[in-house]
Amino acid sequence: MTHDFSNLRVDFPTLDQHVGGHPLVYLDNAATTQKPRAVIDAIARYYERDNSNVHRGLHALSMRATDGYEAARARTAKFINAADPAEIVFTRGTTEAVNLVALSWGRANLKAGDVILCTEMEHHSNMVPWQLIAQQTGATVRYIPVVGENAEGGLDLEAADELLTPEVKVLAVTHISNTLGCENPIKDLCAKARAVGAISVIDGAQSAGHELVDVQDLGCDFFAFSGHKMAAPTGIGALYGRKALLDAMPPWQGGGGMIANVTFEGSTWKPSPERFEAGTPNVADAIGLHAAMDYLDGLGRPAISRHESELAMMACEALSELPGIRILGPRPGEHRAGTVSFAFADVHAHDVVTFADQDGVALRGGHHCNQPLMRKLGLPSTTRASFYVYNTPEDVDALVKSMRKILKFFG
Ligand code: PLP
Repeated sequence: MTHDFSNLRVDFPTLDQHVGGHPLVYLDNAATTQKPRAVIDAIARYYERDNSNVHRGLHALSMRATDGYEAARARTAKFINAADPAEIVFTRGTTEAVNLVALSWGRANLKAGDVILCTEMEHHSNMVPWQLIAQQTGATVRYIPVVGENAEGGLDLEAADELLTPEVKVLAVTHISNTLGCENPIKDLCAKARAVGAISVIDGAQSAGHELVDVQDLGCDFFAFSGHKMAAPTGIGALYGRKALLDAMPPWQGGGGMIANVTFEGSTWKPSPERFEAGTPNVADAIGLHAAMDYLDGLGRPAISRHESELAMMACEALSELPGIRILGPRPGEHRAGTVSFAFADVHAHDVVTFADQDGVALRGGHHCNQPLMRKLGLPSTTRASFYVYNTPEDVDALVKSMRKILKFFG
C-alpha cells in the first residue's frame, strides 16, 4: 500500500510555523531537509539515557551507546544493501566521505599520467577533493560534458565512452544532480569504469533517502551520502566502500579508536571501518540517522521518489509558462528527480529568493556549489526549488503564485 503523503507536515515540528505571515512552504530540501519528531526524539532519548563514549567502556551506558552506534551502522548497511556493516564508515557527510577516498585511496594509488574522470555537473564536493589530490600526485582531472544549452540532455554518454581510457583510475559521478534534477545511469557508468580498471565513487547526496539505493546492484566501489539531506541530523553521513578496497587503504586521520597497537616507534591500525573513524564519533547523530532510515522506509522509498518527482514535474510544467524563464535539466514533461532550478531573464535569483521568503516560500538562490556548470551555461546563479516527503501540490501552487507576483513586481 502506498503511504498517504498529504499530511506528513504534522511529523515535522519545524514546518509548524508561519513566515512572513504565511504558513511555511519549505522548498530548500536539496540543501537540507527538515527532521521528523521520531528523529528528534531518538537523539533526545540517547542524551537523556545512554550518553557515553563508545567502544572503550565496560559500564552499562558505554555498552548501550556502543550498541546504538553499531546498530546504526548495520541499519545503514541494510539501507543501501551493502554486504557487510564493516563496509560503512561514518563521516560528517558526503564532503568528508569523498575527501576520505581522495586522501586515502588517492594518495596511495594515483601518480602522474593517471586520470580522474569527473563530470561537469559535479557538486564541488565531488570535484575539489579530486583537484586537490591531482595537484599532489600529478594526476589529471577530466570532465564528462553535459549536453544542451540548459543541460537538458544530461551527461554526454558518447563522450564518456571516449574519455574512459585505461589511464582513468577514478570515475567520480553524482547519482542525482543537485542543480539539474537529472539522474545519471550509474550502473552503466560503474560497469564501464570497472572495464577500464577504474574505481567508481558515487555522490549519493541527492539520492540516498530519496529512492531505493542498492550499492551491490549499482556495482559502485564507493558511495557517499549525507544524513541531513534525508531527514537525519547534520554532522552525520556515511561512506560505503567495498571491503577489499577499504581493507587495503591506509588511514587518513590518526588518533584514538583507529589503532591496533601504538609504540613510540610507530603504530598499527584496526581493520575498516574503525581504521577510518579516528576520535570520538558522532554517536547521537548516528542514532538519529538510524531513526530517519526507519521513518523513510516506513513511508517506502519507491513512493517517496514518485512523490518528489511528481511535485517537481508539476512545478516544472507550471513554471515553464512564465515569461523569460530558463529551466535547467530535463524538459517539462520529462522525468526528473525532486529538484527544479530556473532563472528569469531580468530578475536575479537572490531577489527571487528574498521576495519569495516574504510569501513564506523557502527557496535557494546561487550557484549551488556548481560554479563551473553555471559558468558553462552562462548563468551567474539560479533559483532552486526542491521537494521532499512533506511537500504537497499546494506547495507547488504557492511557489508558482509567488513567482508570478515577483515577475509582476519587477516587470
Ligand atoms: N553532493 C551533492 C550532489 C550535494 O547536493 C551536496 C550538498 O549540497 C553535497 C555533495 C555536499 O553534502 P554535504 O555538505 O552534506 O557534505
